[in-house]
Amino acid sequence: MTKPATQPAETTKEPGPVRTCLGCGKKQLKTLLHRLVLDDRHQPLLDRPQTAPGRGAYLCGPGCLTAAIKKKAFHRAFKKALATGGGTLDTTTLEADLQTKR
Ligand SMILES: [Zn+2]
Repeated sequence: MTKPATQPAETTKEPGPVRTCLGCGKKQLKTLLHRLVLDDRHQPLLDRPQTAPGRGAYLCGPGCLTAAIKKKAFHRAFKKALATGGGTLDTTTLEADLQTKR
């Protein structure tokens, strides 16, 4: 009777990819940030599972959304897509999404 070998413990503690918040510019683990993507109307949406295709941008929270809008960080992050959408940015959906805790 042989006992099944125990799985070797993960020796490398990979903290995971790090992304920069659009609002405050702080670098944080991707998993701790809110991922934003543009929908087909070229408006930012919250991508909770962080799996949506396309270019993503990251925010720590609602406070940083305001900061990001002020800094026009969205226009920098989503330059091409926003230009296609006429350059208008509607963050009302996004804002509401950020306020709602998962
Ligand atoms: Zn932030």
